[in-house]
Order: sequence, then C-alpha cells, then structure tokens
Amino acid sequence: MGNRKVAIVGGGIAGVGAAWSLDRAGYEVQLFEKASALGGNAKTFRWTVENGYAESPLLVIAWPERYYHNYHLLLDALGLGRTTLPISYFVRSPDGDFRQDGESTLDKRFVGQFKRWRRLVAFVSRVCDFFLPKDRHDSIYHFSFFNPMNVIPLYWMARLFGISKDFWHEIFVPVHCATFITTSMKRIPAVILPILESIVPLEKPCRMGTWDGPPRRVFERMTAAFAERVHTDHKITRVARENACFVLEDSKGRRYEADKVVFACDAHSVLDALESPTWLQQLLFSHSQYVDDVDPTFSKFVVHSDASIFPDAQRDEITSNFNTYVELDGKGSLECTFVLSSRYPGLNQYGVPMLVTFNSDKPIDKVQARIDLPRANHTLCLRNLLIMTAMRFLQGKNDIFYCGTFTTPEGGHDLSFMSGLVAARAIGAPYPLRANNPEALADFHQMQRMMLGRALPD
Ligand SMILES: Cc1cc2nc3c(=O)[nH]c(=O)nc-3n(C[C@H](O)[C@H](O)[C@H](O)COP(=O)(O)OP(=O)(O)OC[C@H]3O[C@@H](n4cnc5c(N)ncnc54)[C@H](O)[C@@H]3O)c2cc1C
Repeated sequence: MGNRKVAIVGGGIAGVGAAWSLDRAGYEVQLFEKASALGGNAKTFRWTVENGYAESPLLVIAWPERYYHNYHLLLDALGLGRTTLPISYFVRSPDGDFRQDGESTLDKRFVGQFKRWRRLVAFVSRVCDFFLPKDRHDSIYHFSFFNPMNVIPLYWMARLFGISKDFWHEIFVPVHCATFITTSMKRIPAVILPILESIVPLEKPCRMGTWDGPPRRVFERMTAAFAERVHTDHKITRVARENACFVLEDSKGRRYEADKVVFACDAHSVLDALESPTWLQQLLFSHSQYVDDVDPTFSKFVVHSDASIFPDAQRDEITSNFNTYVELDGKGSLECTFVLSSRYPGLNQYGVPMLVTFNSDKPIDKVQARIDLPRANHTLCLRNLLIMTAMRFLQGKNDIFYCGTFTTPEGGHDLSFMSGLVAARAIGAPYPLRANNPEALADFHQMQRMMLGRALPD
C-alpha cells in the first residue's frame, strides 16, 4: 500500500468529493479544512428560534435539477432525500418594482425590452446549438472551443440587440447577481445565456432542487468512514517536499505527511501554501480572479431576522413569497437579501424571518452572525476560462492535484463535486457512482477532458 497516503486541502464539496472517492478506492486520506465545519460555501446555519434552534442552508441553497446528474446520484448513494424549491425575485429600484409577473411597474415599462431579450436568447441558442454535438443530453459540461460566443461578452450582444443599459442594470443584474455572486457582469461570455435562461428565466419564477434537510448531512455521511482523519480548524499554510514525501503544516505548526496532495481550496491559498511554486503555478494561481477582486458586493454578509430592512408596504409580500430581494439605490449600488424563511421547506413554521443580507448600509437589528466571504467564487470571464484550460499542464505534476471552483468553468455544486471526483480519478480512484447512468457518466468524462485534457479509461 505504498504511495497511498493522500492529503486534501479544503473541505468544500470538491475536497470532500475527492476524499470520499479516494477513501472508497482504498487510499488513506487526510482532509484539512480551515473552518470549524466542513461544507465550504455549502454552509449549514443554526438559527436561534424560540425554544431552541432551526437549521438551514445559508448560501448554496438550490440547484437546477435537469443538470445535476452526478450530485443526484451522490445523494442517492448517501441515502439522502431531495425536494424542490420555488424561486422568485423581488427587485426594487428608484423607477419601480419588478416581480417577474408581467404586472409590476418595471415589467410593464420594459415590455419592449423583454421582446428583444427573447430574440437575443433565441439567437445565442441557435449559435450554441450549431457548435454543440447534436446528440448531447441536458448538460452544463459541454462547450465548443470554436463557438464565437465564448469570447463575445453577453453585455455587447445585449446592446447589439437594442437592449438598454437601464434594462441591464435594473432587471438583468439584480436577478442574476445571486447567480453569479457579483454585480460586475459585463464580461460574462454570451455562451452562458441559453443555460442561464433554462435555469433562471428572466421573465418568470422557476423551481430548483434542494436538500430535504440541512446540507451538513451530506458532508457527515461522505466522511463517516474516515471521520478520525478529518481535521477541521486546520488552515494549511505550508506544503513542501521533504525527502520522499510531502509535509503539510498548518497555522498552528502541526505537521502531517502524505504521498500526494489534492488542493481543493482557492487558487491564492494554493500559492500561499506552496513552498516553491513553479513559474506556471505562479502565473496561473496569481492571475485567477475571484468575484471579490473586482466587486465587494458579496464579500461579506449579515445573518439576521430584521425584516424592517424591507419596504413597509411590501414587507409581508416579500417575507412570504420571494426568495431573493434586491434593492437598487440611485447610484447603482445594490443590496441583496436571501429570504430563506419564505419558501425554504420547513422554515416558515418558526415564524421568524431568516435573512442573509449582502451589501446593506441600513442599520440591521436581530443579528445572528456577521460572516466574511473571501474568494468564495471565481468570476466567469475569459481569463479564468483560459486558466482552467491550462490547469491540465499542472494536474498530477510532482504528485499535486487540483480541484474546486477555479478548476471548473463556473461556480456550481455539481461542477465542484465533479472536479473532486476527477482529481481522485487522476490519482487512481475509479468513478464511485452508479455507472449505469449515461448522462452522469458523460458529464464525468467531459469534466475529465476539461480538467485533464482527456478522459481516462473507466
Ligand atoms: C454566496 C454563494 C452562493 C452560492 N449558491 C449556490 C447555489 O445555490 N447552488 C450551487 O450549485 N452553487 C452555488 N454556489 C457555488 C458554490 O460555491 C459551489 O457550488 C461549491 O459549493 C463550491 O465548492 P468548493 O469545494 O469548490 O469550494 P468551497 O466551498 O469554497 O470550499 C473550499 C474550502 O477550502 C477551505 N480552505 C481554503 N484555504 C484553506 C487552507 N489553506 N487550508 C484548509 N482549508 C482551506 C475553505 O475554508 C473552504 O471550506 C454559491 C457560491 C456562493 C459564494
């Protein structure tokens, strides 16, 4: 069993996915997470309510069911259930409200703009269809290098189709800021539009998949077989080769040995930890761009129960019918609140507003936590797509592997989970899920092509 000790740095779904797969294949894994709990962005929060507590997800809340083939197989394998969540947005701007119902002031004001939007969606979909394989299944993993929409920004296409700056700032950005975790969207490539519209259509509310309980159960079950080798509160600060093995050191000076290392954290933490990075590691990791590098809107948030932040006249409507409330001020700044208690299964029974607010300058009362969110999501831009593509030249070099959001085209739970499975596969672990699901398997193969440049034999 030589060469079988693998250290994994980062306990989000990518790192835990890699560890779970490697453990099942007989590797001896050690999992290091700097926070006090596993989960990464898929945090579980414990709300103080009358006579006790209630648990809920906080940031990673839901997913597009038609695309998460592998994540669904994972939940099945863990014996965990899922349900669906209705998703709807309330946008308030100085010019009026938008509620995706065709009736609100901004719906009416932008009727002509919505028609142009539909034309744009149809056009970009036709171009993408032309370049994609004809027999593909519903997938977020397939793309063609030759599609010009990869390099043309969606904003340019929108302007070309006569869509106004006002529509972009008052409708598109507020609705999709929670999708991309940024308000800075002018460089998002147009290729994303057909998938985006199929997940969160701009004009009407939708439904997404979610857990039927707190997400922490996923991480607990995935690590149950090697729980004694899960090290939370361990921030890895140094990874160096000493003699024949790696030595990992954390911020408290604790040292661990391993034969191979999987980095499942953000690119900058990788660079900070590597004792002697090569020029390519320097180049790729130092240029990896995160949303908070360009836009501070989502870099910290407040968890609270203070519904007085909503306008008086619509407060009841927002707290009972909408998942996301976005308020624009006259200067282009945007406040965003996830209204978890409105529709998340089982939460409205407590009669307590459960709110997560980003970028508010209002005084907020009834605060349960204030949390910083550094480098939680990378940006969707050409630069990061090039870095992702170039990562294949680093994967496995000197027994170091990489997974997590910066190794994938876009932030998404299925993508990160899949990146962990691919890192594990590159080390030697076989595909750990039910192999008779052709769509899931096709996504796994495609993710290998994106991360490794080729699909390894099953
Ligand atoms: C606000 C927000 C909302 C989102 N909502 C959704 C959603 O609803 N649905 C969806 O599909 N996706 C959503 N995403 C995308 C989501 O981030 C991914 O789906 C996925 O959870 C990312 O997993 P990961 O393991 O790649 O990274 P992370 O979850 O970021 O995990 C990386 C882990 O590495 C740890 N780490 C970093 N440095 C070190 C170190 N030096 N030593 C040890 N540990 C370290 C971090 O603490 C962290 O736990 C959202 C993202 C954000 C930011």
